[in-house]
Amino acid sequence: MIQNILSELSLTNTTLVAVSKTKPNEKILELYKEGQRIFGENRVQELVEKYETLPKDIRWHLIGHLQTNKVKYIAPFVSLIHSVDSLKLLKEINKQAKKNDRIIDVLLQFHIATETSKFGLDFQESKELLKTTEYQNFENIRVIGVMGMASFVDDESQVRKEFQSLKAIFEQLKKVFFEQEGSFSEISMGMSGDYKIAIEEGSTMVRIGSLLFGAR
Ligand SMILES: *Cc1c(COP(=O)(O)O)cnc(C)c1O
Repeated sequence: MIQNILSELSLTNTTLVAVSKTKPNEKILELYKEGQRIFGENRVQELVEKYETLPKDIRWHLIGHLQTNKVKYIAPFVSLIHSVDSLKLLKEINKQAKKNDRIIDVLLQFHIATETSKFGLDFQESKELLKTTEYQNFENIRVIGVMGMASFVDDESQVRKEFQSLKAIFEQLKKVFFEQEGSFSEISMGMSGDYKIAIEEGSTMVRIGSLLFGAR
């Protein structure tokens, strides 16, 4: 099962983020032994505990909502933060990255689902953020793309439309703000239930949990 998904994804240009939230270390190590090195967590405390106990060549992604007061705990080691949805958060990530003498890669999270519970910016807000001089003066963060979650619905055409809207946002931002930056290249979309549609719609990074680790 796991091997099937790994080989299926290796045939595409999509990076797999194995979402290991709530799963114990031995489960993570099983996948690590298969060669997987990128793991995603949605809670800071759990992320820090796993970072401290598991092999150091794992690249840890924070995929869940991040509170500004918790950035300091992950700033020393986090490899990518998928869930940036405000200038205030970006400012804190920049500050903590600077303290650790590093540059932290981030994605801007967009609200593409119809459900109101999901976090994220809309297109207008992201443009306003990227135009601020405050953002332009940040030296310790690098925005390398966008992230979004589709609605949890069976209607495939709706899910597809939401992924298309994220892809369109990516293209617009690329053109207006990141034309010269090759590093702005990631579209993080697709989970266990919808990753095939996401890949068809241009995902470069899928975040898959239950399909790899079993239901939570
Ligand atoms: C939990 C989670 C996932 C993975 O969900 P699965 O349905 O288990 O694949 C992906 N992205 C985010 C932001 C998550 O919180």
